[in-house]
Parts: sequence; C-alpha cells; structure tokens
Amino acid sequence: MRLGLYIHIPFCSFLCHYCDFAKTANFDAILVQDYFAAILKQWHTIVDHLERTSGRRVSLSSVYFGGGTPSLFTTEYTNLLRAVYDRLDPDAEISMECNPKNINQSALNVWKGLGVNRLSIGVQTLQKKGLEVLTRDHDASTALRGLELAMHTIANVNMDLIYGWPGQNQNGGQADAHAPDLWASDLQQLINSGVPHASLYSLTYEDRTPFGRMARRGKIYPETDEALAGHYGLAREMLGNAGFEHDEVSNWARPGFTCRHNWLYWDFKNFIGIGAGSHGFLPVSFTSPDRDHGELDAGAEIDQGIRYAFPRDVRSFLRHSPQSVHQGSTTALIRELGGEIDEGRDSDSALIEYVGGALRTRHGIDLSFCEKITGQAFSPRPLIVEALKRQIAWRDGPRLHFAPAEWFRENSWASEVLLSF
Ligand code: SF4
Repeated sequence: MRLGLYIHIPFCSFLCHYCDFAKTANFDAILVQDYFAAILKQWHTIVDHLERTSGRRVSLSSVYFGGGTPSLFTTEYTNLLRAVYDRLDPDAEISMECNPKNINQSALNVWKGLGVNRLSIGVQTLQKKGLEVLTRDHDASTALRGLELAMHTIANVNMDLIYGWPGQNQNGGQADAHAPDLWASDLQQLINSGVPHASLYSLTYEDRTPFGRMARRGKIYPETDEALAGHYGLAREMLGNAGFEHDEVSNWARPGFTCRHNWLYWDFKNFIGIGAGSHGFLPVSFTSPDRDHGELDAGAEIDQGIRYAFPRDVRSFLRHSPQSVHQGSTTALIRELGGEIDEGRDSDSALIEYVGGALRTRHGIDLSFCEKITGQAFSPRPLIVEALKRQIAWRDGPRLHFAPAEWFRENSWASEVLLSF
C-alpha cells in the first residue's frame, strides 16, 4: 500500500498576522517532548492498523514535515524518523518546512543525517516593507544567506513567496501605477538565487486571523482580483523564461525538482496525516489497486477514501494519545484518536475534490477516472468545446488539460467540467 505521510509540527516562536495554520507560540520543552512522543505513538497506531486490516505492508513515497515551524527542532526527529525508515521507498522524498532564522550549518547537518532531502523555506518576500507588513521575524539578508547555505547542503530546496500583501502594489489602498514593482523584484531575486523550486501564493484574508479582522474593518486593503491575476501572469512569464516548469497554479520546478509529496494531493492519492491539525486521506477498502501515476486500471473500482482532520489545539490533541491496540474500523480508530471524519462524502464530492485539484496542474484531468466515479461519459459543455477550439484547453488521450493561464480561474472551469458528466 503506497502512501505519503504528512506530519504537523504546530510550534512557532512568533505568530504571523496572516496565518491560519494550526500553531501555537505557547509551549515549553515538556510540551514539545510530550508532543513528539504522541505523534510517534500515533504513527505506530495508524500504520499497525492499516497493515493489520489490509494484510498489506505500508510503503511511503514521501514524508512531509509541515507547520508551524518544523525547523525549530533537530534531534527531536530522531525516534520518529527511525520508526518510519523501514517503510520508506528507496527514493522517498523527505521534506521539511524551514524558517530562514533557524537555518545554520549544524541544523542542516542533523536534518541531512536523519534523511531529510528537501527543504521548503518560508521567505515570503525579500522586501523590507513586505516583511514588516507580513509581521515576519526575519530580514531579507537572513533569508538569502539561509537559502544559500541550505542549497549547499541539501540541493532540493523550495522558496515560498507571497504576493498581494497590503502595500505591495498600492498607495493608501489605491493601485499605484508608479509604485516600484516589488513583485518583479522578488521574482528576479528568486531566479538569481538559483533555487530549483518555487511556491508562490496569493495572500488570503482568513476570518480568524488578525489580517481577516483588519480587512473587515477597512484597515487594510486586499489587492483586486485583476492585480492578483497580473502578479500570477508576471510569475508565469519570468519563471517560464528562466527555465522553470509550471507544475500547478502555485508551484514551479526546475527539471528534476518537482515536489512528489504535492502530487499526492493533486492526483487524489492517499496519505496519512499525523499531529495536531493534520489532515489525512486514507483508503476505505484495500481491494482497489494503487493508482501509481494517476492512471486507472480498466475495471478497477474507485475508492473515494476517508478524509479526516485531527484537533488543531495541541493540548486537545494530546488528550487523545492512543492507549491500546485498536480492533475496529479505520473510521472508528480516527475518532478514537480525536479526529473528525469528513462525513457525507459521496461520488459527487470526490469528483469535485479531484477536478478542482487536477484542473490546475500540468497533469490535467484524467477523464476516465471521472467517468469511473460518476458512471457517466464525458460530454463537454459548450464553453469547454469553445475552449478546445481556442486551444486554451486540449485533449491528450484520456486527459483534459487547461492552459496555465486558465488555472487561475479554476472555479469557473471546474463547474463546467463537473456539469459535463
Ligand atoms: S506563517 Fe509559519 S511561522 Fe508564521 S505563524 Fe504561521 S506557521 Fe508560524
């Protein structure tokens, strides 16, 4: 049974005002120790259950440490990584998210020694004004130095950038055509750095964050959709010219540096999530063959899977630390561990999840997979027929692709695709 593993590390030394991830800055060494012990137990409990109930061995194609700030820790990962070693594929990707401030040679040596072979560095912007607005605790020179050091030790490195932050392209809430192009400057520095992977996200104003509240009160001004589309277009142009392949609406990679863990999410493949606030997507039954490269064997049944999330609050998460061997179903096990099951998923929701993710990737949509889920043949709606004529969409065997410029308008295309079944 080939799966990915996501491990959430919810600790941060400070809290950024735009962030909606599960995290806390209120922790001490004892809590951290308890947390690492709990996620180790959780790993054993889930993997033992999956292997016992399926009669198949779990093998991991990727492990991803996300946060929070996983880079606050080094040797704390030893027991956990030792526990997963014998389930790792020989070429497994092991990624860790890093804050630039935590990068130093000794930490890099420990991570590399433990098997980490990909780093994702949260640079966010290289503009002084942007780092202040985003309430980050590092400066641009720390980020660039950290990046360089990281690439010398672990070549496979991603740089995260955010666009659309308040003031990036504005003056007092109004778009300013004469403002210096700070986004172009960030992109150029990314290219100059030689980093082989880039994740570029447009800032979102989530309700429960300080940014969300400030936007509601009119204290900060989100960028217009038009301005965001312009930033996306500039990124496509500059990174494309610099030799990056565009994998997904927010992700670009130089050849050979795509992120394999990300493809699990985009290709509707299963992964275990462990830790506070983590999400997982497990098979319901174990009779379906693995869909290794997104292709489906003729005659195979679709497994819509079980989606779940563990409590975001660290202390609630710890209260559900597993005590004994579980004999029930996967759903019952997840509930016992304090997780919430995404109830009521059916073939429609599975289709929505799959199409929404696949549409905005370079793999495109596997129509034969959709036909299996719905039991209906693909019969393209007029707008899709028109898109095919205009060559902003195309067919390639069983796959339907949209041009990258269209990925930014995923919502409108997704509904057209869904209505075509
Ligand atoms: S953005 Fe990263 S460092 Fe900032 S609060 Fe969120 S998880 Fe922590």
